[in-house]
Amino acid sequence: MDFELSEEHKMLREAIKDFVEKEIAPLVDEAEAKEQFPVQLFPRMGELGYLCLGYPAEYGAGEMGMIGECIVIEEIAKIAAGIAGGLMVQGGIATEAVLVHGTEEQKQKYLVPAIKGQKIASFGLTEADAGSDVAAIQTVAVRQGDKYVINGSKIFITNSPICDFVLAAAYTDKGLGASKGMSLFIVEKDIPGFTCSTMDKFGFRSSATGEVVFEDCVVPGENLIGEEGRGFQYLMEALDGGRISHSARSIGLAEAAYEAALNYAQQRVQFGQPIYKFQVNSFKLAKMAMDIEVARWLMYRAAWLYDQGFRRIKEAAMTKLFSSEVVCRVTTDAMQMHGGYALMSDSSVHRYFRDARFCTITEGTSEIQEIVISRAIGLR
Ligand SMILES: Cc1cc2nc3c(=O)[nH]c(=O)nc-3n(C[C@H](O)[C@H](O)[C@H](O)COP(=O)(O)OP(=O)(O)OC[C@H]3O[C@@H](n4cnc5c(N)ncnc54)[C@H](O)[C@@H]3O)c2cc1C
Repeated sequence: MDFELSEEHKMLREAIKDFVEKEIAPLVDEAEAKEQFPVQLFPRMGELGYLCLGYPAEYGAGEMGMIGECIVIEEIAKIAAGIAGGLMVQGGIATEAVLVHGTEEQKQKYLVPAIKGQKIASFGLTEADAGSDVAAIQTVAVRQGDKYVINGSKIFITNSPICDFVLAAAYTDKGLGASKGMSLFIVEKDIPGFTCSTMDKFGFRSSATGEVVFEDCVVPGENLIGEEGRGFQYLMEALDGGRISHSARSIGLAEAAYEAALNYAQQRVQFGQPIYKFQVNSFKLAKMAMDIEVARWLMYRAAWLYDQGFRRIKEAAMTKLFSSEVVCRVTTDAMQMHGGYALMSDSSVHRYFRDARFCTITEGTSEIQEIVISRAIGLR
């Protein structure tokens, strides 16, 4: 067993910390206030090789595995979990199926520009009446000669207001059910019939979230990913990686809240002493530190399994579930530790608390992770 990061990964962490401090931190307040993802980060991070870090070098990516991706997401989430979310989608669920099942032409046209930050990707699965119940989607793609005509709508789609393309799930044959009748398509945002409106959120405000409508969108047959009818399977494969990097975001956010609480408890004086000297507060901080430590090990182990190509469905669900529960606990305790100051809208700890609420919902709710874990341990 080896509990150390490789030298390469340690260097990556130092480099990304420096980048976050110099180039992301100055953008956060405006992005949060205006609810706008700072899009200039895509080409800049692409240029520096920080996007899609787990992807192979042959497409211009860093090839630093899921561990590398988690390091980057964790560090960025410490400063802005919303921004981390937009980047996480680009290097994961919105492009993984293209990497694994796409044609060489699709990779050159969509994946390589995504890695370089020249194109922004989003992933469209959820619909108004199909959240956890993915099979209930209504979007359809009807083949007409060598093209498909797509109709339907998607909701809560990260990056969609700023994207160049959506990797969208649609039924090509609903009669065959999700496992054989659902397919994945790349839909470019500037084709006729594609519209997107921005959704207003109380957290993750520095990410862009939108509702997408496809109205008679005609996409060429070559935009189908892999085989027709295999989309559901491709999605399920991509979910593991998505859940692991989602954990990195929850953990980065929890670390930020913990640091804020620790600093505040050392500075805030009541009854003639810093408030950490009250045992109730020092024990609270001790538990926060322990929770984060456990969550990080669970996440890095799942990332390691992923990088080794081992089965990791259970571990990916466990780390997603655990880290999102930890971030909710830690941010709640950090709020309490800050007293009334936490309740002011401009306090960072208040932002962490709001952002944490999203972690138990996105990328599959906690209850869905519990179902996945129950199945994995043979209970369903
Ligand atoms: C900020 C944000 C960004 C997002 N980004 C994307 C994106 O980029 N792409 C995308 O496709 N989607 C995205 N989503 C959608 C997200 O994945 C869904 O919100 C999530 O899967 C839950 O679906 P739902 O909101 O419809 O809730 P529902 O599925 O309606 O769930 C409501 C409640 O019922 C519970 N529940 C549902 N089914 C069961 C069950 N079988 N057993 C027990 N409890 C159950 C849930 O756990 C939850 O507590 C995003 C959402 C948000 C808020």
